[in-house]
Amino acid sequence: MSEPDPAADAPRKVPWLVRMHYRMRTVAFAMMFGVIALHGGGPVSGPGFWALMALLFLVYPHAQYLRTRRLSDPTAGELRNLRTDSVFLGMGVATIGFPVWITFAGLLGTLSNNTANKGWTGIAETLVAFPGGALLGCLIWGFRFEPDTDWVTTLCCIVGLTLYLTALGQVAFTRILRLRVTREALQVRERELMEANDALHRNLREIDELQEQLREQANRDPLTGLYNRRYLDSTLERELARCKRDGNPLALILIDIDHFKQVNDTYGHQAGDEILLRIAALLAGMARAGDVACRYGGEEFLLLMPTIPMASARERAEALRIAFEALEVPFGAFKLKATVSIGIAAYPGQGISADELIRSADTALYRAKNLGRNRVEVESEGVNKS
Ligand code: GH3
Ligand code: MG
Ligand code: MG
Repeated sequence: MSEPDPAADAPRKVPWLVRMHYRMRTVAFAMMFGVIALHGGGPVSGPGFWALMALLFLVYPHAQYLRTRRLSDPTAGELRNLRTDSVFLGMGVATIGFPVWITFAGLLGTLSNNTANKGWTGIAETLVAFPGGALLGCLIWGFRFEPDTDWVTTLCCIVGLTLYLTALGQVAFTRILRLRVTREALQVRERELMEANDALHRNLREIDELQEQLREQANRDPLTGLYNRRYLDSTLERELARCKRDGNPLALILIDIDHFKQVNDTYGHQAGDEILLRIAALLAGMARAGDVACRYGGEEFLLLMPTIPMASARERAEALRIAFEALEVPFGAFKLKATVSIGIAAYPGQGISADELIRSADTALYRAKNLGRNRVEVESEGVNKS
């Protein structure tokens, strides 16, 4: 049994199942009372009998509703009430001597309702509760068997039963219809959710790509697209550590355009930019996988070459110097020409730390400038005009 709900006094909605059964029970039991009255009561009619019939068929549906709506779980309570219906109907038909049509109408009514609400459990419960109620009736009023009814009562039983089963079918239809509408609405919602989910994933992918682009941009020089000094600083340490661990050499070449200020002063800043773009393209073109070509400063560039020994670095620096010297950069009506000076340093010959290597390349570059420019120099080595 459900406990009375402490919040029962607060206004709340009575569940649909309880309201529907209240209506069905009130009408069906009233019809049952009418049929019994038409039948003329039965073998034991008298004030006590009619009082019991009125209690079972006229008062009980309302009393049951008032009790059930106050339960903490009215729906569960209502499903239990269906057993009581069977008991009372069994008791009623036993009291009037089991007239076949009235018994049939009562049994089929309660059986179909129990089955519609509880399936096999409902069938089993009815088949216990209805005979149980009949037995109780027999114990109170004694067993009698008077199966016949007059044709009016029989007709009323047929009509009443038909109306009851039709009403039950109608209720089932309404529920199935509502279920279908709800399911369709749910399917639409599910599709919308899936689309929203797809859109969310697309957005997340775009954000990931944008973040990747931002990371990439933060490491790039906007004019030339080469890596910037910030990126070099973090990469040089890492690459040097790796080469040390693997027992490999590492070389870097520092490149500075000669008399670049003059280019700017003579042809303008834009002409200078054109030259910067050309040397950046040359540098990027000669960088292998694993090399890091970067714009080190205004008109200074650096190519980091992990695992490359000094001899190869010198060859590549020389190749770059010659290629740039041969280059003619068209700018309006002019063909601009420039040269570069290059300082090289390699691990371990010129230093064992990033700072030492950069300083050494810088010193070599300074010497290349001092010795007349358009040269490749290495610190601790003699003059090396190529
Ligand atoms: P040196 O042979 O001794 O290297 O002479 P230089 O004129 O190249 O040396 P300096 O350092 O005096 O001049 C470098 C110039 O590079 C000065 C600056 O205006 C120019 N510069 C720096 N960044 C840019 C840039 O992004 N675009 C252009 N057009 N010029 C730049
Ligand atoms: Mg410079
Ligand atoms: Mg310069």
